[in-house]
Amino acid sequence: MKLLEDMILRYGEVRPGNVLKVDSFLNHRIDVKLVEKLGEELYEAFKNDKITKVLTIESSGIAIAMMTALKFGVPMVFAKKRKTINLSDDVYTAPVHSYTNNRDYEVMVSKDYIGKDDVILIVDDFLANGCALRGLIDIAHRAGATVAGAGIAIEKGFQGGGDVLRAEGLKIVSLAIIERMSDDSLEFRR
Ligand code: 5GP
Repeated sequence: MKLLEDMILRYGEVRPGNVLKVDSFLNHRIDVKLVEKLGEELYEAFKNDKITKVLTIESSGIAIAMMTALKFGVPMVFAKKRKTINLSDDVYTAPVHSYTNNRDYEVMVSKDYIGKDDVILIVDDFLANGCALRGLIDIAHRAGATVAGAGIAIEKGFQGGGDVLRAEGLKIVSLAIIERMSDDSLEFRR
């Protein structure tokens, strides 16, 4: 998606450890119009898949997942990384290794909010090694739901997680795929 690629080139900052910082438009201050367009693109890509729920992981996936769910007219559910007092004990859980924090989380979704009749579109801001995506797929499958695919804003193609999942048969639509990234250059997959 040209608009997203332009924003990455203009405002993205490459940080140590192959981390792309997009805090100025996607992860901290959010360009709402841009995120609305990301939601529209993901809707177009999955509109024939009979999606009943959009699933993401807190916190940086929430904005994109919201806009996507709005286009579909379905609820958005996000996996929590912390057990809060309001979360029931009846949860589906999956382990996820966080790429940016370099730690393991147990992510949780209440059994009340996804189930066997759901057709789930997983949405996230980044796809790198694929751990977050695998954790969410795991949770959806534990609930007996169908996973229609994954819609991603920025895939770091050079880390390979997306291609492995595609080879396993998952439909993944990434709106920008970075093929190469260094301190002073960034190249997209064509
Ligand atoms: P994965 O689990 O695929 O290795 O990484 C995806 C998750 O890590 C996403 O949920 C995202 O929040 C975070 N992430 C991975 N790489 C980056 C990055 O380069 N920049 C930012 N901002 N987040 C990233």
